[in-house]
Order: sequence, then structure tokens, then C-alpha cells
Amino acid sequence: MSNATCTKCGRPAFYFRAYTGERLCIKHFLESIEENVRRNIGKNKLFTWNDKIMVAASGGKDSSVLLYILHKIEQEFPHTELFALTIDEGVQGYTEQRAEIVRKVIKMAERDAGGRIEHYTASFKERYGYTLQEIVERSMKMGKGVSPCTYCGVLRRRLINVMAKELGATKVATGHNLDDEAQTILLNLGRGDIHRLARVGPKPIRELPGFVPRVKPLRYVPEEEIAVFSYLKGFPFMRSECRYIGTSMRGHLRVSLNRIDRLHPGFKYRIVQTFDQIQPILAEKSAHDVKVRPCKKCGEPTTGEICRACQLLEELGID
Ligand SMILES: [Zn+2]
Ligand SMILES: [Zn+2]
Repeated sequence: MSNATCTKCGRPAFYFRAYTGERLCIKHFLESIEENVRRNIGKNKLFTWNDKIMVAASGGKDSSVLLYILHKIEQEFPHTELFALTIDEGVQGYTEQRAEIVRKVIKMAERDAGGRIEHYTASFKERYGYTLQEIVERSMKMGKGVSPCTYCGVLRRRLINVMAKELGATKVATGHNLDDEAQTILLNLGRGDIHRLARVGPKPIRELPGFVPRVKPLRYVPEEEIAVFSYLKGFPFMRSECRYIGTSMRGHLRVSLNRIDRLHPGFKYRIVQTFDQIQPILAEKSAHDVKVRPCKKCGEPTTGEICRACQLLEELGID
């Protein structure tokens, strides 16, 4: 391997992409990730010519790589705009670190591609009255048996949607990568949740009132390659995105999928690719009209009377 050469230019290779058989030098590795994102944006029509894009930037590798690449691409389109939002969940020790990392990545993106990226923050504390840590502790004390990831996921998603509307975004770009998508597909298969499975994809099947559409530009980039990209660019990053992940079903799938993928390169990639081919059929089959209306408590869109976020908070006596 050490004396192998880049498939594209013949210079010494530094990365072997097992699932395609390509060997790549640093330059061509970096370019290939950007191309991967461009291909996804083009093929799946993730953006329109005048989108105002909000990148949910957490300080983790995925969203930093997303922010960096998307800013570069966005610079080529005169009528689009892009800005970053960082959610501060208020988990001890993360608060300052998170915003600081995102600020550094923004500086690097601006340095390399020009332009400016506005950076906004929103916190659980100011929006919900409690930090995630306080909410989880309260839930445990009350013996609710709700996983921390549920609070984090539901409350983050709502705050992201609220902020996107407040800041006038027309699209929200998230850092979901190939591994996340393969896990989500198998998770929903394993749970027998066809409706949710039908909604897995690079962008929403159809736009629903009150929701700013969420798109996933990194959907075909493996987690490992994002890590390598981030390392090569010298991005600072948070040590751990979530300290609860190890105990969840997603955590178990992640370990198993990585093991299989090492033995059979491309396994994760093919799960997502195959899913993409059957997704239109699934979507049609589960095309019962989803009726969305404003939540009676907070006004955010929901299929029931009260949205999931308000339900969770209500159960804890937080209003
Ligand atoms: Zn090369
Ligand atoms: Zn609500």
C-alpha cells in the first residue's frame, strides 16, 4: 500500500477507498468528498437558486465538514445565502467549547473560499427554561424512563425549526452521513416502522406547512471519510457528540455495521443506494395524507393536538 499511487494523478496515494478500489492522494481525496456532495445536491435537487440555507453546526466533525464544503459551493451562486446556527443544549463543559469550535471552522471556511458566514446561537436554557442536563436529571428523578436521546432529539429538532423560521431560512442542511443513513434505514426496518422508513431520504418527500425542509448533503459520504477530511483540514472538534449513544439501538447498529463493512466494503453504501431505489415505491405505499396543524401550546406544526416537544415538557411539569 505504501508505494501505491493515486488512481487519478499517479502521485503517491494516501487513502485507499475500499468500496470503490480507488487509491487517492490528499488533493484528490479532498476533491472527491466535495464532488460527492455536489453530486448529491445536483441529483437530488437539494437546493433552489435563491435558497437561504441554515447549517445546523454543532462543533462535531460532520457539521463542520458540511459547513466548510457547502459554503464553498454556495459562493458560486449569487442569489443564495448561507448561515450557521449552533444549538447549545447546556451539557456541562460543552457550552463554550461548541460555539468556539464552530467560530474557528467558520474562519477557516471564509479564509479558503471568501465571503462571510453569519453565526447564530440558541440555547435550551433560554428557550425551554432548562438545560438538557437539567431536563434529563428531572426526568430520571421522576422515573419517566424516557431516553436522554429522545429529549435531545425532539427538543433540538423543534428549536432548529423555530430558529430557521425566525431567521428566514428556506432550507436547513444537516450533517447526516452515510453511516447515519444506513443505521436509520435498518433501525426503521427492525422496528417495522414503514411510515418512518418511507421518509428517510436526502430531502422531504413533500413539504409540509410550518416545517422548513431539511436536506442532507453529506448523505453519501462515509463517516470515516468525513473524519479524514476534517483531520486533513485541521478542524478542531468535540470529542464526543453524545455521551449516551453507546446504550441506544443506533449505537449497537453502528458497531455491527462497521464490523460487517470492514469485512465486506461497500455494505453500508449499498444499503443506502438500494434503499434509494425502493424508496419511491415505499413513499407511494405510505402516502396517506399527513395532516399537519399548529400545536395548541406552541404553534409548531404537528400531526396531533399537541406536539411531541410540548408533550415531553408537559410530562416533566415544564411549560
Ligand atoms: Zn491524485
Ligand atoms: Zn408544541
